[in-house]
Amino acid sequence: MKQYNIAIVGSGIIGMTCALHLSKLNNIQITLYGMFPKHSEFKTTAILKTSFNLLKQIIDINENDATIQKLKKFKIIDQISKRQKILDFDSSELDIDSFAYNIKDSVLSEKLINQIKKSKNIIHVNEFIRSINTNLQEAIIDYDGNKNYHDLVIAADGRNSIIRKQNQLSVERIKYKENILITKITHSKHHKNTSYEIHRNGSLLTSVPIEDNMSAIVYIDRPEIISKKSVKSLDDYFNELLGSYLGNIETDENHDVFPSETIRVNKLFANRCILIGESAHVIPPIGAQGLNLGLRDIEAIHSLLDKNKNINPGSKIITSKYNHLRWSDIYKRYKSVNLLYQSMMNYNFKNSIIRNLGIISLQKSKMIRNILLHEGMVLKN
Ligand SMILES: Cc1cc2nc3c(=O)[nH]c(=O)nc-3n(C[C@H](O)[C@H](O)[C@H](O)COP(=O)(O)OP(=O)(O)OC[C@H]3O[C@@H](n4cnc5c(N)ncnc54)[C@H](O)[C@@H]3O)c2cc1C
Repeated sequence: MKQYNIAIVGSGIIGMTCALHLSKLNNIQITLYGMFPKHSEFKTTAILKTSFNLLKQIIDINENDATIQKLKKFKIIDQISKRQKILDFDSSELDIDSFAYNIKDSVLSEKLINQIKKSKNIIHVNEFIRSINTNLQEAIIDYDGNKNYHDLVIAADGRNSIIRKQNQLSVERIKYKENILITKITHSKHHKNTSYEIHRNGSLLTSVPIEDNMSAIVYIDRPEIISKKSVKSLDDYFNELLGSYLGNIETDENHDVFPSETIRVNKLFANRCILIGESAHVIPPIGAQGLNLGLRDIEAIHSLLDKNKNINPGSKIITSKYNHLRWSDIYKRYKSVNLLYQSMMNYNFKNSIIRNLGIISLQKSKMIRNILLHEGMVLKN
């Protein structure tokens, strides 16, 4: 069988997962470029049940690990208009044990790094790539004075992707006026495997279980409000909003802040390169969609290469088919998550009617709830 040589640029969670998954194909040698990541200690990711199976195939991980919290329930508390509305979603509605598994990025990365180090089919180049030379015939990566030739280059180099820029792939990039603060809280009551999401006009507060009496916090608000909050005022704020569900709350002394932005590319391939993960799509952190979209990019390229072992992986047949396979899923998530985000952050009369109608239907109609749950979980595509 003909052997091919694939480069993956970027060793974040998506790049490492892609390298490990593709390395299972027996006709492919992988070169993974980039330094292993260092994550914020507060950053966790809820991995949807449907994507978790991919991780189970490549690393030593399972649903019952002590490092994982099962997310069985979501409670959305809508405080945008005067009358508070509450929406409850329970995984038992779908006859499943949980919607998603929440894990610290640092823990997941460590497991991936250990496995990469053991893999014979992956060469790890601990370098930042400064340029790529590519056309329809070849893809050459320059690093440290060396030139490496690859059949296909997979860009997993995140939201400021060099591979995307050098291929002149155009992007729609919106910098929102909010920032995202992440930290963790300890609470006197058990979270009961529930993630709480509190919507207010112009802000969003989410708690996601990480240990028995501990939850990760994702708080989105305007930078001038976030920057004024001391640990004490964050503590008061979290107690006010979440205290009735989680009991007495103590907030960690530290936090990290990120800009809120969204990115969509017009095409997922050029020359001998394809884009996966945040090099291809960035969406606001609501509804646990970002990394999960990236994991589905990996499933798609894996399945294409597996079914077409006699075709060069960098040929246009493969790269354009990848684009075709991923386009609608990415576009749908990008549109729906951004619409929801904007309706929360810019509350106006039109948005208020849409939101209220949506919430009433979600409260009353079992059918609409089922569609939403299935769509959110991507059980149907
Ligand atoms: C607060 C927050 C909460 C979130 N929660 C969830 C959630 O619950 N569920 C979910 O599904 N998603 C969630 N997301 C989204 C998720 O975190 C991202 O989609 C995911 O981390 C992106 O991973 P990535 O590997 O594509 O990108 P990155 O993590 O950015 O990795 C890119 C890597 O490429 C490297 N790199 C860049 N340039 C080069 C170069 N030239 N050469 C070599 N290497 C390079 C970088 O150093 C980095 O290691 C959340 C995001 C945020 C901000």
